[in-house]
Amino acid sequence: MRPAVITIDGPAGSGKTVVGKRIADALGYLYLDTGAFYRALTWLALSRGIDPHDGVTLAQLARQVTIQIVHPTVADGRPYTVLVNGQDVTTELSLPDVANTVSIVAAHPEVRAELLPIQRRVASQGQVVMAGRDIGTVVVPDADLKLYLDAPLPIRVARRLAQLRERGIEPDPAQIAAEMAARDRLDQARAVAPLRPAPDAVIIDTTAMSIDEEVATILDLIAKRDP
Ligand code: C5P
Repeated sequence: MRPAVITIDGPAGSGKTVVGKRIADALGYLYLDTGAFYRALTWLALSRGIDPHDGVTLAQLARQVTIQIVHPTVADGRPYTVLVNGQDVTTELSLPDVANTVSIVAAHPEVRAELLPIQRRVASQGQVVMAGRDIGTVVVPDADLKLYLDAPLPIRVARRLAQLRERGIEPDPAQIAAEMAARDRLDQARAVAPLRPAPDAVIIDTTAMSIDEEVATILDLIAKRDP
């Protein structure tokens, strides 16, 4: 049978969004980037001057906020539009302030506890590709197909730079590299739901692969499970 839920985890810039969206489109599945929830909450906390180390207040904020991830409303290369209490904040979610703070916000168990049921609700509807850090290990541990995308940091940085330039953002390469390395460290070291492959995940080293090759490899894996 074709997997009802496909999870894609991996470090920053491992290609989860680009590949995940392509897989979802090919299967007619929904694509959900769970990082957008953490980024949206971080953006709201920053805009309200809330301390990113204050897990209790952040969890309260997570309970009150309405985060919607919808089809792209602007043709600027974005894979989706993110609305926070109705406001389009998609562009803001890629800004350095958010990127540099999101892993601090995401490390709070109270925050994760608030965002978990929202993600599980989407998973329970099936026909979804979900990308993040803990999707195969915590959010949907019984998913039918779990993928873990990986590549060395310099490769991931180069891909992220290209992606930002495509969207008209001129990034500082050293700053992006430092931000991604720091985020990976925090995501891997946190006590709750750290970034790591599920024991039954298929690990795909994308170093020498084009996006087309990654997509073809994954669709092949899916076809093998759905003869
Ligand atoms: O995937 P993206 O780079 O947008 O994720 C931003 C951050 O959100 C990650 O670095 C991580 O701190 C957090 N995150 C998480 N769990 C997820 C998805 C994202 O902790 N499932």
